[in-house]
Amino acid sequence: MMSSDLSERVAGAPAPEPPRAPLRSLAIVFVVLVCASLIGMQAWLTAHARAVQLAESEAASANLAEAVAQHAYDTIKEADTVLVGLVERLEHDGKSAPELDRIHELLVRRVAELPQLHGIFVYNADGSWLVNAQPVLLRNQNNSDREYFAYHREHAYRGMHIGPPVRSRSTGDWVVTVSRRFDRPDGAFAGVVLATIDMDYFQRHFQRFKIGDEGAIFLALESGIVLVRRPFSEKSLGRDISRLPLFRDYLPKAPVGTVTFTSAQDGVTRINSYRRLEQYPLVVSAALSKAEVLAPWRADAYLYGGGAVVLVVAIALLGLRLVRQIQLRTQAEAELVRARNALETLNQALERLAMQDGLTGLANRRQFDVSLKNEFSRAMRNGSSLALVMLDVDCFKQYNDIYGHAAGDECLKAIGQIVADSKRRPGDVAARYGGEELVVLLPGTDVAGAIVVAENIRAAVELLELTHGGSTTCRVTVSAGVEALAPVRFETEPVDLVKAADQALYRAKSQGRNRVCSAGDEGERRAAPVFACSQS
Ligand code: GH3
Ligand code: MG
Ligand code: MG
Repeated sequence: MMSSDLSERVAGAPAPEPPRAPLRSLAIVFVVLVCASLIGMQAWLTAHARAVQLAESEAASANLAEAVAQHAYDTIKEADTVLVGLVERLEHDGKSAPELDRIHELLVRRVAELPQLHGIFVYNADGSWLVNAQPVLLRNQNNSDREYFAYHREHAYRGMHIGPPVRSRSTGDWVVTVSRRFDRPDGAFAGVVLATIDMDYFQRHFQRFKIGDEGAIFLALESGIVLVRRPFSEKSLGRDISRLPLFRDYLPKAPVGTVTFTSAQDGVTRINSYRRLEQYPLVVSAALSKAEVLAPWRADAYLYGGGAVVLVVAIALLGLRLVRQIQLRTQAEAELVRARNALETLNQALERLAMQDGLTGLANRRQFDVSLKNEFSRAMRNGSSLALVMLDVDCFKQYNDIYGHAAGDECLKAIGQIVADSKRRPGDVAARYGGEELVVLLPGTDVAGAIVVAENIRAAVELLELTHGGSTTCRVTVSAGVEALAPVRFETEPVDLVKAADQALYRAKSQGRNRVCSAGDEGERRAAPVFACSQS
């Protein structure tokens, strides 16, 4: 009985505190935020580094284009300066043999002085060679079929003309031609002066720049004819690239610019910086491969990205551990609270049981002693009366002998229930004093009141009509002794009340049982009724 009672109480323990989900959620949010921030920061840094790298590369290609343009201008300007002087001289001093000899010496000197000059030539109006910078003038040569010659013959324009690249008739080298026409005094076409610029001179200059394996530099005519190109390819010389995006789309919009597009020829995406020369009909372009430009950035991005991934994984794992620890701690705390509550409930139950009689459910002797002491003190303080009813089952030994100990227990329980029901006030205490002796402590009650309570119990037990073959009444009955007193300090003690009630009980027994006697009542208080036994 006791264990089931306890387990019921334990099961009814207060619910444990709810687990601290917010702390775990906070930890999860924190870890996720840290990881997301790391990833976000790394992504931003990587994107920023890429943008910076591209911007720097655009600036580098623009500077490159400017350097190439400046070099082309300087190179051609020097050659043209020679041509301007030559035209002036031919037009004023004529083409006499001595004059041509002097011009020859001048040309030899000029070619020696200017490294870019491959040769300088003077052609007659019919294209025949008049004089050049070579040691010996080859006769019977005619250049009237050359593009520049035809141009000057057909155009009165006196400015400089830059022609497509040609192979030199004198040396077989690839050259860029710069030419001017000179006129007779009447303005008729008198011939052409030509300076050829060594293609190698440009190539050597182009080679100085670091443009990677897929970078490209070219110098072209405004019309889209390629003059020089790095990487060098004979096929590209003189090629018309006017239909390519740079000439078709971008140059018409702006004379200088940097654009990124993918080449239809080789599929390489390049950052192209182009520039149209202000003074000459030339266009230069310097292009860097985007993939090559971004290669160092890519290597860094993989390195730092990998580092960030390792860091994020480590933080995530640590965070997971932290969250698990929080979860475990929360569970442990909840378990602890549950256990503490169960223990408290158990203690309360044990405490109750320790003060309770197991058979009748009444207060036990220990509880009664405590209550008696307390109520005695209270009555002493209040100057009030404290009554005690002491009950004893009549001929109970015989009852046990006849009906067995178990039946005796059941009988005691039934009487205990009547005694428990006899309590009228909250302060009343019904207890099992020991064996088949029960007591009722009645604070604030005098003898008369206590006798009424005792008599009610006695009558109720009688009315139970529990057969008792060993009793003269043939029923289970109880005898009661009653005493009430107003405790006086240093004069009366709790035990006096018990003794007096016990003596009254003894008298009730001796007067025939099934009756109530009070301590002050020496006579027979109630005649025992005569019952006829229905069974023996
Ligand atoms: P009297 O009328 O003079 O009181 O006679 P009695 O037989 O009741 O008196 P006695 O004190 O000799 O016997 C008390 C008996 O009560 C003895 C014991 O076996 C029985 N008893 C005491 N406690 C219990 C109990 O818890 N259960 C049962 N079944 N019997 C008990
Ligand atoms: Mg007894
Ligand atoms: Mg008895």
